[in-house]
Amino acid sequence: MKTSLRARLLVAAIATLSCSNALGAAADFAACLAQLRAQAAGEGISARTRDSALAAVEPDPSVIEAMAYQPEFRIPIWDYLAGLVDEQRIADGRSRLREWAPVLAAAEEKFGVDRHTIVAVWGVESDYGRLMGTRPLVRSLATVACLGNRQRFFRAELIAALRIIDSGDFVPEAMVGSWAGAFGQTQFMPSTFLRIAVDFDADGRRDIVGSVPDALGSTANYLKRAGWVTGAPWGYEVRLPANYSGPSGRRDKQALTQWSALGVRRIDGSALDGPGAAALLLPAGAAGPAFLVFRNFDAIYAYNAAESYALAIAQLADRLRGAGAWATPWPTDDRGLSRAERKELQERLIAQGYDIGTADGMIGPKTRAAIQQFQNARGLAADARAGGRVLDALRATPSPAAQ
Ligand code: CA
Repeated sequence: MKTSLRARLLVAAIATLSCSNALGAAADFAACLAQLRAQAAGEGISARTRDSALAAVEPDPSVIEAMAYQPEFRIPIWDYLAGLVDEQRIADGRSRLREWAPVLAAAEEKFGVDRHTIVAVWGVESDYGRLMGTRPLVRSLATVACLGNRQRFFRAELIAALRIIDSGDFVPEAMVGSWAGAFGQTQFMPSTFLRIAVDFDADGRRDIVGSVPDALGSTANYLKRAGWVTGAPWGYEVRLPANYSGPSGRRDKQALTQWSALGVRRIDGSALDGPGAAALLLPAGAAGPAFLVFRNFDAIYAYNAAESYALAIAQLADRLRGAGAWATPWPTDDRGLSRAERKELQERLIAQGYDIGTADGMIGPKTRAAIQQFQNARGLAADARAGGRVLDALRATPSPAAQ
């Protein structure tokens, strides 16, 4: 909260240059940049890289806004998964499996990670290279390193980015990514790149932006280094006994015999099997889908410490292997929407006369405000959420032009 307020003030200060605060902020930033240049010199970054990458860097107001942004909605897990593991991403993943089969076979051979998991990470991280972020990385990192609330962490990442430029893998202009410094088809942080990235097409450069083989090899190397067990499953869906109130949580690993004794079975009712101890995940409580997860789930989790994220990769990998959707429904009567449905919802709102800009499938504040207005006008519960119920209501409402 405090940080958010501070960031908002900085946005305001930088936006209005006549304000004395802005001059102060600009002077602070220049001083911080000078410190960073000195630190970079001390850590052996060449003068050439320091001059080319850090000269004339200014804070990026859009990065400060992104830092300040705190989503007012906690997204339900079924919304999160419906957008990340939709039919389009599954179909795209299958075509990438065909297209890159020789590279994926080589990655399996070298790193021991299966092709479905590698492609699932690629699909969730960057939509198979389509969404990598467009902000100049050094500028973003300088902004968060000087003005954010985790300055030590981001200063180290900025130095890592300079080291990458120094190594010749990237010129500064080619390093673009998210506001928080993740870049490329694998969305690595610069320090992760330095530790993990591989030149899998052997052209002399580690290029996780422009080279699919480098991105796929680097992803496999990441999972291997995170403890991937070759040939082992991430986990599987299970069935709980009625009124289950036993242990759960990713860190609470138990022997399969223990889970069996608690009445846990595979979803088809068969006995539990698998490599070693497992944890029971209940992402929406005991009334929703339940999963036993093994060590490979932790390896996926390491990529981007969030259980919902790891479940998205795990589910997409299973779907790419040909498995069906999970058997247990989410505990809701208002289903999550695929990206195609989100776009359709926006198109229908626009047809109803709501001003939400273009239908891009991204549910932002304008779309949510329009949903809420529509819900109010139709006497629906006004939760402003882009779910199946409001889409169905829109489908049943003729657009004014058609009336
Ligand atoms: Ca390469």
